[in-house]
Amino acid sequence: MKIETVSVLGVKVARMSLQQVVEWIRVMVEQGKPRHIVTANAEVIYKAHVEPEYLELLQKSDLVTADGSGVVLAANMLGQPVPERVAGIDLVAEVFELAAEKNWSIYFLGAEPDVVEKAVLHTLEKYPSLQIKGYRDGYYSQEETEQVVSNINKLKPDILLVALGVPKQEVFIQQYLKELDVPLSIGVGGSFDILAGTATRAPVWMQRVGLEWSYRLFKEPRRFKRMLALPKFVLAVLKQKLTRK
Ligand code: UDP
Repeated sequence: MKIETVSVLGVKVARMSLQQVVEWIRVMVEQGKPRHIVTANAEVIYKAHVEPEYLELLQKSDLVTADGSGVVLAANMLGQPVPERVAGIDLVAEVFELAAEKNWSIYFLGAEPDVVEKAVLHTLEKYPSLQIKGYRDGYYSQEETEQVVSNINKLKPDILLVALGVPKQEVFIQQYLKELDVPLSIGVGGSFDILAGTATRAPVWMQRVGLEWSYRLFKEPRRFKRMLALPKFVLAVLKQKLTRK
């Protein structure tokens, strides 16, 4: 399946709508080879811009979605717009629908123990027929990693949701992609916190006008330092645009 992309600071972001990404997932899970989706916001892409090792990880993934208004803006600035923002949490909701329809199973890896447990319970309340094969929090030691991987392999889920934060989730998925017996792994950042109800999303109007990041900053002021990447990201994209011509 050919994917049209726009290169944003060297990261190839898919020019696909949420529904097109869901269609891609349908085909890929049926093929069964291990695949990796990155949901990339401006912070993620800027990190890749300044850390070549992280860029390499993103380049090895199979699909990068435009998870944030900053990335949508960047694609517009570069003259290769994306149809819409494809946020991790919206993708997760679609994955649940698709998995319930196809009878595919899911494994949840990441977040604090009570958060992942609540995320699983709330998901089952909403999608009672969904097969959740297992879950595990994201605060295990380096030595326990092999055990985590072998537990997942024993359960053989069709889809693995990894919420270990950036960059841990991408590092984990790329390191174990071949060893993991799972057709699709997706890095989903803070999605389990939202499913659990321990974090809330911005009101829909804010999401629509591309201001969800400001709501997140208001709710979690500790993110301020990390969010300084946003203006640097826009400047770097501007530079990419100017030097290309
Ligand atoms: N997390 C985890 N293990 C870690 C670090 C983070 O499971 O060692 C979880 C954290 O509890 C949260 C999720 O990763 O549920 C996303 O973390 P963060 O808010 O930092 O999100 P990011 O913006 O990095 O995706």
